[in-house]
This record gives sequence, structure tokens and C-alpha cells, in this order.
Amino acid sequence: MARIPGRLRRQVISRAHGRCEYCQTQQAIVIAMEIDHILPESAGGETSLANLCLACIGCNGFKLNHQTGLDSETGQEAPLFNPRTQQWREHFAWSPDGASVVGLTATGRATVERLRMNRETVVAARRLWVEAGWHPPADRA
Ligand SMILES: [Zn+2]
Repeated sequence: MARIPGRLRRQVISRAHGRCEYCQTQQAIVIAMEIDHILPESAGGETSLANLCLACIGCNGFKLNHQTGLDSETGQEAPLFNPRTQQWREHFAWSPDGASVVGLTATGRATVERLRMNRETVVAARRLWVEAGWHPPADRA
């Protein structure tokens, strides 16, 4: 992994308003955030603002070097969400109770699946965050 210079890291965090650009979890809640190479370094992705995003350790840990996931609706591979070139709200929505991410498109569903954005532990955590009034985050996506 390329080391990400402090200044670039701060720019990525500030641009993301301190939220995971995949599952929208706020840094203030989970503490641990990482900088993700949207196009993986192993596939030639650069360490530049245009190819970096802020990701929680859950999303980043499941994304690894993947660039696609399975669309649960069609069973077909689809490209993962790109927070630099795509709008979150066009690909995802919150379930009515705010605890789960719903994929609206092939890319949305593939990303939910690949990054396991609705794994049991995080859904349980989101339920508490909803109760506390911390979630879903005020809409800046
Ligand atoms: Zn996340």
C-alpha cells in the first residue's frame, strides 16, 4: 500500500465530511476510518484525490481489491459504486427504519453485497444510532 501523505489524507476526510463514502457511517461514531483506493492500487489505481475516498474499516475491509460484486437481483456481476463519479442517492437508499442500506441499481446492490453493508453487527449498531438520533446522517451525499 502506498503511504498517503497527511495533507492528502486530510483533504479526503474533509471532502467526505468525515463519513464513509460507501455506507455513510460517520467517523464520529465508528472512530476508525481508512482511505480507500477506489480503483485498487493492484489494478493501477493512483494515490490521488480523484481515486481516493474515505471508507470505514468494514467497507474497506470487504472491498479489498474487488472492483465488482454480484447484483442480488440478477445474479450478474456489476461494477462497485464509485464515490467520485457517482451520486450515493442514485444508487442507494435507507430502509424505512434507517438500519439497512438498500441498493437501487445493479451497482448499488453489488456494492451492498460486496462490502456487506448490511451485516448483522452494523445493522444492530445502526438501530441504536437511529434511536440516538445520529443516523441516517443529515443528507450531504
Ligand atoms: Zn462503510
